Amino acid sequence: EPKIAELVARRDRALGPSYRLFYDEPVALASASGLELVGIDGRTYLDAYNNVPVIGHSHPAVTAAVSTQLQTLNTHTRYITESILDYSERLLGHFPAPLERVTYTCTGSEAIDLAVRIARHRTGRRGLIISEHAYHGTTVTAAGMSPSLGPNNPLGTDVVTIPSVDTAATPADQVGAKLAADVRAAAAQLEESGAGVAAVVLDSILSSDGVQTHPLGFLQPAEAVVRELGALWIADEVQPGFGRTGTWWGFERHGIVPDLVVLGKPMGNGMPIAAVVGTLDAQASFGAEVRYFNTFAGNPVSIAAATAVLDVIEGDELVSHAAAMGTRLLDGLQELVQSHESAQHARGAGLFAALDLGTPTSPDPELAARVVNGMRQSGVLISASGPAAASLKIRPPLPISSAQCDQIVETLDAVLMEVER
Ligand code: PMP
Repeated sequence: EPKIAELVARRDRALGPSYRLFYDEPVALASASGLELVGIDGRTYLDAYNNVPVIGHSHPAVTAAVSTQLQTLNTHTRYITESILDYSERLLGHFPAPLERVTYTCTGSEAIDLAVRIARHRTGRRGLIISEHAYHGTTVTAAGMSPSLGPNNPLGTDVVTIPSVDTAATPADQVGAKLAADVRAAAAQLEESGAGVAAVVLDSILSSDGVQTHPLGFLQPAEAVVRELGALWIADEVQPGFGRTGTWWGFERHGIVPDLVVLGKPMGNGMPIAAVVGTLDAQASFGAEVRYFNTFAGNPVSIAAATAVLDVIEGDELVSHAAAMGTRLLDGLQELVQSHESAQHARGAGLFAALDLGTPTSPDPELAARVVNGMRQSGVLISASGPAAASLKIRPPLPISSAQCDQIVETLDAVLMEVER
């Protein structure tokens, strides 16, 4: 396709050199609706990966809410607008009681950054404990908490990692105790250095550690250690939040209550809005002693988008739909593990699934790349991630149908057959 090659060349000449494209044959998009993406050549793709358009691409409820609001008022949070209050009350209604205040940002990274500042202020300590292959964002602080960016991206000072626990390799009854012991060891290191522990920051499904679906409750022993240390628990819900894992929040599945919860990506279905939701106790001293104002955060247009997202998730019962469709998808992936030599382990929670490729003893990132590219050629967009980049990551928008779940599994079956030949 000479046209795509031409666009790639223009992109290389104009955009910063950090940008990466998905797929050996990149996809150039013209439009999208629901779970269907349309390329500039008219070809259609099933979006089985993008967790931002949580209620589907170009959802009419969001489009209408945003355009109406844009024609009415758009300003910042130094004025009272009723819509932000309506939205905040509704959002907080989806959290357990002690999580009772929300502060808006524009991106997940800013929200991570803010949560860390709040935790450091509250505890008077600097240390952060994160997982080994975590990704938490783009700001200096968040990038310093993102070892998944590789060895050329240095960790921040006072940031200590704990080993990620592989679901496939660890007996279920040992995961919780292991995580707690690892947190304790990291805390000892931070105390010895004089930093102390301000917070443990974890994504409950360990998205960039390969999507690890540990037994329910596995975070509880580690939470007890955090309480004992007088540190805060920051839950990064940028990926699992808003129904993705079949419950409103990922942490909810594991029966813990964080001090601060970071929200992002799906919150505005593509409009930039993110937030920190937390206890008043965690936030009060920072709020009283440090000024925080984020110009675009919580603007009425983004709030309108976020309100439409809540309307649709609630009205269409997308959280229970995600749980039901996720079971169907995972059943299909488990069958592929039975029928394909190269498919080793399938796991998932709600519409967040992973399939490890390789042999029983070694993950195969090249095979994963071939499968991802083969899927793209067959019209289904997914990606590979995890420590070895050998786990297929499947994470479609929530309104997926049973037929579309089956399409993902059937296409994967055919592509695996092809690459195994
Ligand atoms: N945390 C997690 C778990 C993420 O996946 C991301 C984005 N990939 C972020 C934080 C940062 O969010 P943003 O890109 O909106 O700054």
